[in-house]
This record gives sequence, structure tokens and C-alpha cells, in this order.
Amino acid sequence: EHPSTRYDYQVIRFDNAIHSHSFEEEILESIEGAMHEGQLFMVYQPKVRASTNELSGFEALIRWKHPKYGMLSPVTFIPILEQSTRIGDVTNWIIEQVCKQIAEWGKTTFQVHPVSINIPGDYVTSPILLNVLTEMVKKYKLEPYNLELEITETSVVNSIEDAVKALNTFREKGFSVALDDFGTGVSSLSYLKRLPISTLKIDKSFIDDVPQSEKDSSILKAILAIGRTLNLDIVLEGVETEEQVQFLSQESESLIFQGYYFAKPMTSTELLNWLAQRKPV
Ligand code: C2E
Ligand code: MG
Ligand code: MG
Ligand code: MG
Repeated sequence: EHPSTRYDYQVIRFDNAIHSHSFEEEILESIEGAMHEGQLFMVYQPKVRASTNELSGFEALIRWKHPKYGMLSPVTFIPILEQSTRIGDVTNWIIEQVCKQIAEWGKTTFQVHPVSINIPGDYVTSPILLNVLTEMVKKYKLEPYNLELEITETSVVNSIEDAVKALNTFREKGFSVALDDFGTGVSSLSYLKRLPISTLKIDKSFIDDVPQSEKDSSILKAILAIGRTLNLDIVLEGVETEEQVQFLSQESESLIFQGYYFAKPMTSTELLNWLAQRKPV
């Protein structure tokens, strides 16, 4: 029903290995309570400009401190939620948490940077999404450019026309749109041509063996060239080593890095400490 192969794999693997069918049911039954009981929370991972080391923004990532399973990875529970309508409620909740957080940061001395939110495949074209975004931006006195929507190619496979239409509306309203995990899905170049996105996020798997692997380095260079040609901002996900930073910085001055080399995802408190200790650029 949902042609999201990347996620199906995760669900199947998790089911077979540990929990059989009931784990999914447990997740679906407990998510509502988890939202209200403070078990779900957002962490924020900085993105940094390659040329200047300046902050360019954050990605909001969800965490679940589960009473029975401990800290659950989103890779474990998001795909399960995506099989049901709960994913809409959870995404709406995430949007409100992020907007509230940006408004709170606005009261501190730190400059507010855009925050990206992951939008699940099928939800991109839901009319509710646009309503919630508009409502929350208004409620917390933000501007649409404070938010970036990260979508994946799974949003596009059902109907590219519907996806293009939805994304055009977001862009017209002033929200930024990034294509996440580029290279892992169908990665059709015609999608790249047609989707009204402003940012391309290159998946970590293309960065992992760079610069050691000549093949991977060549592929990455080719992807960067395509991004440049289409005038897209490029974020490299999962940058972990000094060698990667050096190699990638040589490739292009306008790249944006996101990875453990710079910072892991952090709670707001950790983030404010991290910002305070950061060397001025
Ligand atoms: P994603 O959107 O591609 O997010 C990037 C993932 O890469 C995050 O994992 C981040 O912690 C991880 N990462 C960043 N830098 C490094 C690095 O240098 N090394 C390694 N090993 N990992 C790095 P996380 O937070 O576990 O999220 C995994 C996926 O779960 C996300 O991939 C996204 O698809 C989904 N997800 C996470 N939060 C949300 C959310 O709020 N809503 C939705 N719908 N999906 C989410
Ligand atoms: Mg993402
Ligand atoms: Mg990604
Ligand atoms: Mg990913």
C-alpha cells in the first residue's frame, strides 16, 4: 500500500529479530499517550557552512524515551506510524514543538536559524499539513522562512504532479523545501528537474567512504556538479572525519555540512551550551 521500501525493510527486520507482530500494535497504541506524557521530544543537529564554519540551521529529529524499551530510534517507530494515520498527528505535534522552540530561542541572545522538519512521504500532499504549518507559524509569531520541510522521494512516487503542486504551494507561502536522503531512493533526474526544491541533502552512504574510495569520491563529485548546475544548496549528511571535511571543502565552497564531526543532535539545553562554547567565526 505504501511504496516506501526503505522503511518496509526496517519494519520487517525489527519484527523478525525481536518483537513479532505485537510490537507494531504496542507502538500504535502507546504513541498518543507518549505525546502527552512527555516521552517524545525533539533534538536539534546543527548544520555548518563549509567555507566559513558559520551555522546555517538545524535539523529537528524526534526521540522517544519509552518506559519499556528505553530510548527508541525514529528508524524503529516512524515507519510503523507511517502505516497508520497517526503519522499525521505526530507530525503536527512535531511542527508545534519546533515552532515553540524557535520562539523560545528568539528570546535568547542567539541568532535564530532555520529549522528543518522531516515530513513523511504521504503527508506532504495532505491539506492538513499546510493548515498546521500556517497556523503554528502564526501562533508562535514566526516567519515561514524559519522552517524548512525535508521531504524524500517516497513523496513523489505516487504522483509527481500532486507532490509538485503541494511543494509549489509551500514555496509560495515562503517555506523552504529540501530533498532528503538523495541517492537512496529512485533518484530519478527528472524528479530533480521538476521538484521545486531549494536544497539537496546527500545521503550519508555517499560520504562514508570518501575520500578513500575513488569510486565513491567520483560519484559524489558528479552529484555535487548536478546540484550546482540546478543551483541547489547542498547539505552533506553524516560528515564524521577531518579527512572528509578537507576533501569536501576543496570540492566546493558553498557546501553545508551536517554530521557528528561538528555536532550530534542535541536537546535545546545542550544546544545552548554548545553554542555558548563555540569559537566565534
Ligand atoms: P534523516 O532525516 O536523514 O536524519 C539524519 C540522520 O542521520 C539522523 O538520525 C542523525 O542523527 C543522523 N546523523 C547525522 N550525522 C551523523 C553522523 O555523522 N554519523 C551518523 N552515524 N549519523 C548521523 P536519527 O535522528 O536517528 O533519524 C533517523 C531517521 O529517522 C531520519 O533520517 C528520518 O528519516 C527519521 N526521523 C527522525 N526524526 C524524525 C521526525 O521528527 N519526523 C519524521 N517523519 N522522521 C524522522
Ligand atoms: Mg532529514
Ligand atoms: Mg537524510
Ligand atoms: Mg537518512
